Amino acid sequence: MSAEETRQHILGMTQEALEQFFVQHHEKPFRGRQILQWMHQRFVPSFDEMTDLSKKLRLFIAEHFYYPSVEILRDQRSDDGTRKWLLKTSTGSAVEVVYIPEETRATLCVSSQVGCELNCQFCYTATQGFERNLSAHEIVSQLWFVNKTLTEENALLPEHLHSQLVTNVVFMGMGEPLRNLDSVIPAVQVMMNDYAYGLSKRRVTISTSGVVPGLERLAQETDVALALSLHAPDDQTRSQIIPLNKKYPLDVLLPAVVDYLDAHDRKMHVTLEYVMLNGVNDSEKHAYTLAKLVNRYFPGRAKVNLIPFNPFPTTKFESTSMEQIKKFAEIVRSKNNIITTVRKTRGQDILGACGQLAGDVLDKTRRRQQYLQKIQSINAAAS
Ligand code: SF4
Repeated sequence: MSAEETRQHILGMTQEALEQFFVQHHEKPFRGRQILQWMHQRFVPSFDEMTDLSKKLRLFIAEHFYYPSVEILRDQRSDDGTRKWLLKTSTGSAVEVVYIPEETRATLCVSSQVGCELNCQFCYTATQGFERNLSAHEIVSQLWFVNKTLTEENALLPEHLHSQLVTNVVFMGMGEPLRNLDSVIPAVQVMMNDYAYGLSKRRVTISTSGVVPGLERLAQETDVALALSLHAPDDQTRSQIIPLNKKYPLDVLLPAVVDYLDAHDRKMHVTLEYVMLNGVNDSEKHAYTLAKLVNRYFPGRAKVNLIPFNPFPTTKFESTSMEQIKKFAEIVRSKNNIITTVRKTRGQDILGACGQLAGDVLDKTRRRQQYLQKIQSINAAAS
């Protein structure tokens, strides 16, 4: 087989995989570390710019690996500084990535799949259906692209206008990461590698809607921070909005989350995400049940994050009023001082807030067509 036929995408390759590659080709393993730094920290525009490698070695690398490329399909900036890019990956799919700058950190919300098959009722991505899993290369390329872009922009700006490079990554974009662990795990390893992005385990968060077998595997292979899309404190309410709950109900799911925390560190916390849906999961009774659940399974080990719902076209849900959200938070907090925060909604003007991601450019699924038909019929009825 020729080198061209076995050419690989390089961004998703871990240090171990690169070192193995060089050893197999009678080169020193430290070449793997050099390549990681050139690719992920210096963002050189081609293999040929890797000047501490011999010309012969650079040619050899170019024969075996594709130089990464990402095409920008859309670039949006929100008034609050949030940026959203729709990217076409080297394998042709459209994925969205959202950059959220704050005072002391900059968070990148990455996607792990094109679309999603889990069909959570409050989620815009779910309207798109499922196309496929992203490769490790495509996941890492989201972070690579954003840091590269910001580095290039910063070089043209005075220092006080520089954007902070990504300090935190959350897997809360399109897709359920635990349904794509073959790609997510190596991607996370690259993100945490000191020769690449050097993010600590606390700064990479995987968010799941509750794929129990995935949690077990995740515990064996990594120790990143975990967020659970809980969204309801009882099975009846949760199954209404997260169909996966019928397969893994709370008395199966929550012990699996405890096992994940115990597998690593007694001090490890879980973030419980809770989208506030008017009249669905936001009553005082829900708040008391939630507090009870947290104290039963995660005493002193959970943070509850209440998220005002971000409406999108065709949704049947509305957000709970801020007054009710605050009341809900007070009830949860009052039980054993459960840490309870209300998430600031960011990037709403560009549909960049969580749950609003949808790659609508290259999608060809049936559910998307149905969704567009629905919008057309709504527009027709309104005109
Ligand atoms: S909330 Fe997450 S898991 Fe649920 S449909 Fe949306 S992307 Fe998929």
